[in-house]
Amino acid sequence: MQVYNWIKFIPDILYPRRCLLCGAPGSQGRELCTGCAKDLPLNHHPCAICALPLPANAPLGTICGGCSRQKPVFERCYAALLYDDTTGMLISRLKFNRRLNHAGLLAGLLGEYLEQHQAPLPELILPVPLHSRRLRERGYNQALEIGRHLGRHFGLPLSSDRCSRIKSTPAQTGLERKQRQKNLRQAFRLNDSVRGTHIALLDDVVTTGSTVTELAKLLKRSGASRVDVWAVARTPEDRD
Ligand SMILES: [Zn+2]
Ligand SMILES: [Zn+2]
Repeated sequence: MQVYNWIKFIPDILYPRRCLLCGAPGSQGRELCTGCAKDLPLNHHPCAICALPLPANAPLGTICGGCSRQKPVFERCYAALLYDDTTGMLISRLKFNRRLNHAGLLAGLLGEYLEQHQAPLPELILPVPLHSRRLRERGYNQALEIGRHLGRHFGLPLSSDRCSRIKSTPAQTGLERKQRQKNLRQAFRLNDSVRGTHIALLDDVVTTGSTVTELAKLLKRSGASRVDVWAVARTPEDRD
């Protein structure tokens, strides 16, 4: 093990980490420099349930209008960043340009946020699955890539096959909430028991929450004791 650690350590000396946004030397062992880290739009004022960004003057623990009207199926969503041009670029490089090294940085940012917000640790991390056709086209599931780092960091198991996406849904962008929900109906299937398990569903971006809601419904119906949602970013406007 000692040797392995050294092998891991040497590249860090020879090739110091560089900021993925500007190329300057990274800080705190991350691929992000101090300046770019400071500019990242952290989700400082989230709804205490669904993580919807609220105005800066909203007191801690405020719940948004949507959650006050109807509590979501999941217990709580933690989303580290607001979705803007910068976070959108980092995520889409990981998702569409095969820049898998971005998963480590995004997972690190989410992990820090979870620690700062004292998120209760689940027993299992479940990355939102891709349909097999999408997975074949892309070659990897970006949520699973982020999950690998988080699982290692927190010492938690990660499941990529407990659940499958059996319905290939068209791109959900720009669709009304009702249409999104309709498209997602029966989109997932459980392959193994989740009874009595506290699960964190993991996704790169949460927009209206339709996908994680549909999955959380299935998990809760199947006996999961608690379902949280972990996301790298949350879109500022809920279109629900
Ligand atoms: Zn930078
Ligand atoms: Zn809310």
